[in-house]
Amino acid sequence: MMPQRFETDSTTTLVCGFCSTGCGLTAHMRDGEAIHLTPAAQYPVNLGMACPKGWESLAPLAASDRMSTPLVRDRSGQLTPVSWSKAAAQFASVFKGIQARWGTESIACLSTGQMTTEEMALLGCLFRFGMRGTHYDSNTRQCMATSHVAYKQSFGFDAPPFCYSDFEQSDVLVFVGSNVCVAHPILWQRVLRNEKAPLIIVVDPRKTETAMNATMHLPILPKSDLVLLYGTARALLARDAVDSGFIRDHTAGFDQFAAFAQSFTEEMVLKHTGLERADFEQFINAIASGKRVSFWWTMGVNQGHESTRTAQALINLALLTGNIGKPGTGANSITGQCNAMGSRLFANATSLLGGRDFADAAHRDKVAGILGLPAAAIPEKKGFAYDQIIDGIHDGSIKGLWVVATNSAHSWIQQESALEALKKLEFLVVQDLYSTTETAAFAHLLLPAAGWGEKEGTLINSERRLGLVKQIRRAPGQALSDFRIFQIIAEAWNVGPWRHRWSSPEAAFELLKELSRDLPCDFTGIQSYEMLDACGGIQWPWPDHAASPDTSSPRPAVERRLFEDFNFYHDDGRAQFVFDNPTPPPETPSPEFPFILLTGRGTSAQWHTLTRTSKSDMLRRLSPDSVYVEINPLDASALGIQSGLKVQLASRRATVFATALVTSSVQRGQLFMPMHFRETNQLTLQVVDPHSRQPSYKYCAVQVLRSAIREA
Ligand code: SF4
Repeated sequence: MMPQRFETDSTTTLVCGFCSTGCGLTAHMRDGEAIHLTPAAQYPVNLGMACPKGWESLAPLAASDRMSTPLVRDRSGQLTPVSWSKAAAQFASVFKGIQARWGTESIACLSTGQMTTEEMALLGCLFRFGMRGTHYDSNTRQCMATSHVAYKQSFGFDAPPFCYSDFEQSDVLVFVGSNVCVAHPILWQRVLRNEKAPLIIVVDPRKTETAMNATMHLPILPKSDLVLLYGTARALLARDAVDSGFIRDHTAGFDQFAAFAQSFTEEMVLKHTGLERADFEQFINAIASGKRVSFWWTMGVNQGHESTRTAQALINLALLTGNIGKPGTGANSITGQCNAMGSRLFANATSLLGGRDFADAAHRDKVAGILGLPAAAIPEKKGFAYDQIIDGIHDGSIKGLWVVATNSAHSWIQQESALEALKKLEFLVVQDLYSTTETAAFAHLLLPAAGWGEKEGTLINSERRLGLVKQIRRAPGQALSDFRIFQIIAEAWNVGPWRHRWSSPEAAFELLKELSRDLPCDFTGIQSYEMLDACGGIQWPWPDHAASPDTSSPRPAVERRLFEDFNFYHDDGRAQFVFDNPTPPPETPSPEFPFILLTGRGTSAQWHTLTRTSKSDMLRRLSPDSVYVEINPLDASALGIQSGLKVQLASRRATVFATALVTSSVQRGQLFMPMHFRETNQLTLQVVDPHSRQPSYKYCAVQVLRSAIREA
């Protein structure tokens, strides 16, 4: 078959709107509209590569169920189109009515890591300062809250230290709870470009695609990672395989940590993790002898009941061995959503804009001055986290909810509880591309949003690179950019004259620059969107004094890592060892529920709740079309299960059906289900890490009911 040819009249480059890798995509334009996408060959992130989602990014925009007008649900449950002015008036009057009856704290907002940074910041200001809403969180709580808190406590600021070339410069790469092959396929390609024949070590209960391609796989028992990492620290100390000079000059809390780690003996590690002694020793040898060791983690760490301390145990190893601030090193959290990093700094949810503290009066004054607000308009306390908002709806303290670009009815842990909560609301507003999401089914008012590629703004990727999103398509009907919707709501609410400073995404970008000034994330040196475009994105920090006065077009180096001067962001300039005793998971297997259910990404063609990727014929062809469960051959044999049979799974919360996939990629006593199907979160249990309040999606007890096994 001949390749299809496209007649185009121009091209332009923008960053992808799915994952945090932040690849550059070239849009091929005809008559002002993109008709095709290809990976941008010169973009410094992806170097001419893209995963299937990137290639297919236009398909979700062309879906037949795009919402093209605001919709109001009537008493019979029917959705009726209304004008934007009526929708905005209803939004303001109903939410204000709820606040008048139940108090200002009776409304909440749940947003996303998928909008531009300008949109996130405007929403955060609108909801918290304009609408006086206290409880505002986003779905980044589900993926990156742990890394945010871990870095803040350890380094003094939420600062992932790496750049992507570190994948190519390591001698030893340690991936913990990270199936980077599937979750971040372009970053895996960067690993494959490493010419040092590196040791690639994967720590994961499953033999994931990444583990299959690794030099070494440590198949630890689920949630034994914290014991493993503390035991690793002890073993490195025992061998004197630590960087004493770095520890002395640049860290705090070492003596306490070294004493604490002594109780994590090799016997204890082997007992808790189920590892062979030789494998554990080989792991220690690899770290001890590596010249450039990098530690990487993703959701297998972040989504646990003690996730913050686990992430910090990895940071501790990097500090202990001096593997930070140098090429090929680092304690590196790979982010999830395309703008989770923007959300972490500028959502104005649990941190005040720029990563500041709501409780700090000087911080509030600073932000108020930049935004033209009275300082009193900025609350002194942060509001509820996501789980507390769900609980608040249940206990009746929250009556109204605004959901922006997320699908809580599918993605929230212990799904039945989320569904019951949504049903209890007096008023639910859903702002999305589609009226057909599981969450939209409960909405009283639906606001049609433009998607990625139908608006402009910036995203921040995993390596702290600000990249540009451009408008390459027109949104359908009356759908508007989230930014424009927030402007309309701000006007209908009459929030005050400060809203005029947010006159456009680029005006908002100027505010964000000022909000970043003198913080570790300072990017005041980025002069314009054009500069971002010309540079292929720019990593923070890039303060204006960093720009060379000798040139009229100052450009930063393409890739820069943090802490090359070993100065951390705590007041004393030192990184902190942070640690705690491990605790058992709140729900463990029992005779009735003998299996541990693991969850995670299924394929690189699927994104989260499939809201967008299911719109692409190509992506659907590249992934399973219904839920499946991976089961070990020995367990399957004992239960009389073969691949392709429908099995019944039950947890203490729900019972679901799934197709069995018999595979030795899961260990005995463990099962794996992809997160993309509704059934998975019907089984999970709402447990959160106490520091980050990130849910523990990776561990709950289930049974496979033999009596209910039947042919698919
Ligand atoms: S790896 Fe991520 S950023 Fe790159 S094309 Fe795929 S989804 Fe987009």
